[in-house]
Amino acid sequence: MNKLAQLDHQFVWHPFTQMCDWLKREPVVIVAGKGAVLHDIRGREYLDANSSIWTNLHGHNHPKINAAIQRQLKKIAHSSALGLANEPASLLAAKLVRTANPQSAICNPQLNKVFFSDDGSTALEIALKLAYEFTRRARSAGVSPASRAKVQPRFLSLAGAYHGDTVGAVSLGHIDLFHKSYSGLLFKTDKVMSPYCYRCPFNCAKPERADAREYRKCNWECAGLVEKKFATQERKGNPYAAFVFEPLIQGAAGMIPQPRGWLRRVTEIARHHGALLIADEVMTGFGRVGQCSAGVPPAWRKEKFSLALAPGRRDACATLFASQHEGVQPDFLCLAKGLTGGYLPMAATLTTQKVFDAFLGEYDEFKTFFHGHSYTANQLGAAAALASLEILRGKQSIRARQNLEKNLHDELQTLWSLPNVGDIRQVGLIAGVELVRDWQTREPFDLRERAGIRVCEAMARRGVLTRPIGNVIVLMPPYCTMPVQARKMVRAVFDSIREVFGRRSL
Ligand code: PMP
Repeated sequence: MNKLAQLDHQFVWHPFTQMCDWLKREPVVIVAGKGAVLHDIRGREYLDANSSIWTNLHGHNHPKINAAIQRQLKKIAHSSALGLANEPASLLAAKLVRTANPQSAICNPQLNKVFFSDDGSTALEIALKLAYEFTRRARSAGVSPASRAKVQPRFLSLAGAYHGDTVGAVSLGHIDLFHKSYSGLLFKTDKVMSPYCYRCPFNCAKPERADAREYRKCNWECAGLVEKKFATQERKGNPYAAFVFEPLIQGAAGMIPQPRGWLRRVTEIARHHGALLIADEVMTGFGRVGQCSAGVPPAWRKEKFSLALAPGRRDACATLFASQHEGVQPDFLCLAKGLTGGYLPMAATLTTQKVFDAFLGEYDEFKTFFHGHSYTANQLGAAAALASLEILRGKQSIRARQNLEKNLHDELQTLWSLPNVGDIRQVGLIAGVELVRDWQTREPFDLRERAGIRVCEAMARRGVLTRPIGNVIVLMPPYCTMPVQARKMVRAVFDSIREVFGRRSL
């Protein structure tokens, strides 16, 4: 075994990994990357089909981001944000605010304050603590509708939700496999049905060879349940303080896309009941959900929505954030992963003036937000993020994203011929392929069968790296992925499914 692999086996404990399995085989040791390709120590090449866990945007070793970091490195790598400002963080905050407030949001709250932190989990912790304390203060001042409810502010999130691994973020989560063991450590939050059309008990359509959102037959019962949940909680005298959601598609829940219009409906319900909106765009932010052009199922196009657009503005999707695809402007926007183009751990929680103001006061009132991390507003991260935002806004990147979205969509159609493919769901540059025992019955594989893991292992042997979520194979390539590379990724899914489950095709 290679020396570095030996050291890894001896000393490193890997995240979300059964180390018994890990220690059975020599790990792939990555030594370099360029564009969508990763190189290992043995000279093998792999396509990075999940953008290194959904972080990388423009490809590895991008000359512009490299140069930005090098330029910053010549000045300073890090100075504390506790008591000091710095150049790239100030510039980045201003740029994020501009990006997060498109003209279409004129009738919505403006996000104009940025709290920096380190990763997706901390971005959510910050939103959670701010929303909690804002609500508590509003209630004790008698300003909020629930002013007489001197009870703990309570949060509502979606079934299957995943918002990170720190204790607050885990409290918002509803994946038993990850979260149940720690229930004794957590505070109570509520969950409401998420619109998982493929497995929705209200969808009475028989399975078809198409994204379940396209052929679903239902009466939006899922949105009805959201209304019911808010109404019930209000009757209890403690309306929800905030509704936490991933817009357009839930990631770790299993790549669960929302039918068009769902987000708009449920956030209107939440607002109607006085709840703050916390959008977790850790995965969906920075263009990952695409432009809403290619890959849009025909059924979506038929539906009409009154998006809150500025006069004369017809394209709701010329935005980098998923919430804005449905004209939703949250009170908290949580960003991480792609913020630095996938280079460095940095996160941002954007919020409104109203929330900010609730923490203002004389020193001895102690209204300060007592929260902060050592590397908050790190200069190298901020320099990388500024370069990444500039690339994102460029015509070349916009065109690349549009092309990749369409290429992925076209290539993915080949998978419908496999009887073990139950659902293929694509939102922009994110795709989930749900494996089933038989597409006609939707019968799932037991998790113990490791169906997703086995397929991903077979894909790795074909030079394509990704990780499954249970029985769902995830493709989320960097934006620079070329058409032949997208084809190779999907072909690897196809061949690996046939290898693992037999060579049957429809
Ligand atoms: N929110 C979402 C939607 C995520 O997908 C993740 C990570 N996969 C997180 C939060 C947590 O981010 P991090 O791993 O950077 O803490």
